[in-house]
Amino acid sequence: MRTSAPVIIVGAGPAGLALAYELQTRHVDYLVLERQQIGWAWRNHYDRLHLHTLKEVSGLPGWPMPEDYPSFPSALDVARYLERYAAHFSLNIQTGVTVQHASFEHGCWQIQTSQGPCAAPILVMATGIWSTPVRPQIAQQEQFAGTLIHSVDYRNPTPFRGQRVLVVGTGNSGAEIAVDLAQAGVQTSIALRSGINMVPRPRSALAMRINSFALRHLPRSIANWLLKQVRRDFSNIGLPPLPVAPIDAYPVVGYGLAEAVAHGQVQVCGALQSFTPTGMRFSDGQQHDFDAVILATGFRPTLQAVADALELDAAGWPILNHWRSTLNQQLFCLGYSYPTVEGWLQSIGRATSAVAKQIAADVQHSQQSRTCHQAAEQHKAR
Ligand SMILES: Cc1cc2nc3c(=O)[nH]c(=O)nc-3n(C[C@H](O)[C@H](O)[C@H](O)COP(=O)(O)OP(=O)(O)OC[C@H]3O[C@@H](n4cnc5c(N)ncnc54)[C@H](O)[C@@H]3O)c2cc1C
Repeated sequence: MRTSAPVIIVGAGPAGLALAYELQTRHVDYLVLERQQIGWAWRNHYDRLHLHTLKEVSGLPGWPMPEDYPSFPSALDVARYLERYAAHFSLNIQTGVTVQHASFEHGCWQIQTSQGPCAAPILVMATGIWSTPVRPQIAQQEQFAGTLIHSVDYRNPTPFRGQRVLVVGTGNSGAEIAVDLAQAGVQTSIALRSGINMVPRPRSALAMRINSFALRHLPRSIANWLLKQVRRDFSNIGLPPLPVAPIDAYPVVGYGLAEAVAHGQVQVCGALQSFTPTGMRFSDGQQHDFDAVILATGFRPTLQAVADALELDAAGWPILNHWRSTLNQQLFCLGYSYPTVEGWLQSIGRATSAVAKQIAADVQHSQQSRTCHQAAEQHKAR
């Protein structure tokens, strides 16, 4: 693959596109490699999915989401917006290229892709989390005769009509899928391990920005006190808050699950103990039969291609210093943190200009790009 760009960005989701725009405005040459299509993840979510963050804070830098979009756009709206964003700025993207592995040799990244090798001094991973679902091993899983899927494979309630379904996990996906099933008349239960922190759906973009700024800058004790004032406690219907400081808890947005539980449409079960042939045993001793179990157990960063150049924490999230790998200054990772005080897209939007600034300074102060291009040519010739 021919490129002399000093920066390779892997992934054309919101993070990769936003960074491409920020580099382009700083006249830094870059190439985005995307294995599927632009904004692919947003075309592969469940049908019901709409942003739970307001469109005004979820747009990418330089070009807001369209005015005729609803306040909470659908996943398909987001995918279309991302495609238009890339076209509007003529971003330099090659789709259909999978980055398989990258190794750092003599000051350069040697990148193996499905379309051949390329090289660059700076590599940015923006591969998101959607490609790496977390599927915990539950005791005696092999006994279970029913359907077992991850939320990544859930689309809509149709295949589950007339069934008893257990949703495992109470993040945003789990809460929303449970409500989706219940509203379609599916007999739905949700397994709650420790708690759930629900916050109201945002109403004002200005308030979201002010809250995010304040919560990031206020002393922890005050931020926690403020968050306690806005978070409702649903312990009376079996949905207690997580036993951690509110500022450390990733919020579930909206009270849809609480309403469904209060109306008896969704049953709350405890933590899982083990599968039975016909259902699940819970740690409080209860046992129920289910036809299907949906694991809404989250995702992990998709960083296998650069695993050797990253320190990961126990949960598989990269340990970074200002978005740079702590093991390699020329490796950046963008979009791999669970923001608890603002929307994820909002935090990507804020981070990209800081990352672009660092990369622009690096590129300006080095002659590495030419050396790297030559190294790539030699690598190919070998
Ligand atoms: C169900 C769900 C709902 C969400 N809702 C919201 C919301 O309402 N508001 C909000 O702010 N955030 C939300 N998020 C969080 C976050 O905003 C999204 O995950 C967002 O898409 C992250 O952008 P990204 O660019 O980091 O990753 P992605 O959008 O996942 O893009 C990564 C891209 O990298 C590509 N890729 C992966 N591996 C390779 C490889 N080896 N080679 C080449 N290309 C590769 C993928 O094909 C993909 O196109 C949600 C997340 C999920 C999972």
